[in-house]
Amino acid sequence: MRDLRRLPKANLHLHLTGAMRPATLVELAARAGLRLPPPLPDGVTHGWDTFQERYDIARSAVRTAEDVSRVIRETITDSERDGAAWVEIQIDPTSYARRLGGEAVVVETALAATAGRAGIVLASSWAGTPQTAARIARLAARYQSHGVVGFGLSNDERRGRVADFAEAFRVAADAGLLAVPHAGFYEAAWHVRECVERLGASRIGHGLTAAADPATLALLAERSVTLEVCPTSYPPLGVGDLATLPIARLIEAGVPVALGTDDPLLFGADLSAQYAIARQLGLDDATLALLARQSIAASAAPTPVRTQLLAEVDSWLSS
Ligand SMILES: [Zn+2]
Repeated sequence: MRDLRRLPKANLHLHLTGAMRPATLVELAARAGLRLPPPLPDGVTHGWDTFQERYDIARSAVRTAEDVSRVIRETITDSERDGAAWVEIQIDPTSYARRLGGEAVVVETALAATAGRAGIVLASSWAGTPQTAARIARLAARYQSHGVVGFGLSNDERRGRVADFAEAFRVAADAGLLAVPHAGFYEAAWHVRECVERLGASRIGHGLTAAADPATLALLAERSVTLEVCPTSYPPLGVGDLATLPIARLIEAGVPVALGTDDPLLFGADLSAQYAIARQLGLDDATLALLARQSIAASAAPTPVRTQLLAEVDSWLSS
């Protein structure tokens, strides 16, 4: 059996806080005097709030520019070990701006830490105001030529209206940034469709509810909108189980799929583990290689990096 760690792939869905090593969280939390909650029991469904609470505690342990740099450096190291030669890290600059001295400082700190070896996606929140989103989109536009590759919207999509964020995504599109909103996690296929039609989404974070609607699948396939599917994120939040994950249906419909990790700190699985889940679902190595190719193709990695990684996927498959 081919080693999934040796399959070159891109991780296009990973949040800064959620990428933190558990040991780093323990260390930063101790320094900040924070008490960490006990791990969540396996096999139990949690509401969004339980998840968000833990995420917030982890985020509040990140206090300095050095902390942000460290998490990014460790993320790149861990990703490379995992065969994710390219990673795009989502950051909501408002989360760290007060402690670091401004949103632009957060972005510059993150970009310096990547040293060109990863992309940064600036994300605002579905729960935030459209004005905040537009401000973050302008910030992303300002750093477009310095390594910011996309603009997204994270958090619980039920808390915002799609049309309200059209202006922010227009700013991002004008700057040549990828539009990568989270969508179709809780809301049905209409939400994915609206994000494509009204926000010009180039990729969708999750978007699994689209699988139930042939018209939305056709739209995604026609416009080559990639779904960033993160298998281990769904069972704990009660929005799908692994056995019925519709990866094969998406592929059959011609929708590009890029597997991602979302928040390995909370969900406990790296990118190779996501591919292992797809393998358990019956996908053969040729299909896993296709997923890897699609992740690389949908990334913002520089062209020479993409060309090399695609060639390495071919070698993996022919090995
Ligand atoms: Zn996410």
